[in-house]
Amino acid sequence: MSMDNLYTELVMMHNKSGHNKHLLEHASHIERGHNPNCGDDLTLQVKLEEGVITDAAFLGSGCAISQAAMSIMIDLVKGKTVSEAKNLAELYLGMIRGESRSEEELEALADAALFENLSKMPARVKCGTLGWHCLTVVLDK
Ligand SMILES: [Zn+2]
Repeated sequence: MSMDNLYTELVMMHNKSGHNKHLLEHASHIERGHNPNCGDDLTLQVKLEEGVITDAAFLGSGCAISQAAMSIMIDLVKGKTVSEAKNLAELYLGMIRGESRSEEELEALADAALFENLSKMPARVKCGTLGWHCLTVVLDK
């Protein structure tokens, strides 16, 4: 299967399952992200306990890319420490900016690395980074 097909499958799978799209009880941090270009309006809810992301989920409405990118990010950062998650956000946002990444770094991003193509689709960059920007704000608090 080509990378493009894998990416499409992944986006569809996350939108269909919606396993990260729900209200998170007792969230310690809530950050809303809005992308007026596309109409994406998603809210990230994070439960931070002693420097570890113990749980996360999102709510709102947005295009398939924005919701899948958010959901994949949540899968990736759950259970990570604040510094690990910050490192992943930096890697991801750098990748979308088109900075070259080592094999090892792309591996750390797991499924999120499939969004690399967004660096060649300027109109969709904001969709694919919305969740990560929300996360960055939360982690800097
Ligand atoms: Zn969008």
